[in-house]
Amino acid sequence: MKEITLFDKTFKTFIPNEKIEEAIDQVADKLNKDFEGCTDIPVLLCILNGSIMFTSELMKRLTFNCAFASMKLSSYNGTESTGEVKQLLGPTCSLKGKRVIVVEDIVDTGNTIVALDRIIREMGAEDVKICTMLLKPDMYDKDIQLDYVAMEIPNAFIVGFGLDYNELGRNYKDIYVIKEQ
Ligand code: 5GP
Repeated sequence: MKEITLFDKTFKTFIPNEKIEEAIDQVADKLNKDFEGCTDIPVLLCILNGSIMFTSELMKRLTFNCAFASMKLSSYNGTESTGEVKQLLGPTCSLKGKRVIVVEDIVDTGNTIVALDRIIREMGAEDVKICTMLLKPDMYDKDIQLDYVAMEIPNAFIVGFGLDYNELGRNYKDIYVIKEQ
């Protein structure tokens, strides 16, 4: 089992890259089925920074015409959610009248998704779908439907495949879980 050290914390392999890719294949198939033949141009909204790797892998697999935009929010500090969601950047194009597919790295408490759903609807989007690479089902206690979930994980702090610990760890192609100290 591989280990990585990021600042003061050690992480061990949790989900190998092949499993992540398989899960992305499945979620992309589902999106392709649902959006096949659409006559509008749905917008894939990449939530920076964590979902860059997931978004790029997902996009390669999509077979319908779609636009791309990004937006940056922040709610995490170190390994803890602060509960307060800040809008830092974007969205980088108008969402008015669009069907928006939010592409998230991970849904934990769901505070970010609730804020996103509200902001995007306030901007006049016609519809909002949520697509997340990871979900912590034991933590999620909101009513918003999570339309596309690639993988479910227990409540533990993870890094890799776009996810960071204080900006480190995003570049690793596997997902790692924090080791008990
Ligand atoms: P929520 O608002 O659902 O509580 O948290 C969502 C955001 O918190 C994610 O977009 C991600 O940035 C961050 N987050 C939640 N859980 C984890 C985790 O286990 N590891 C990392 N690196 N970030 C997480």
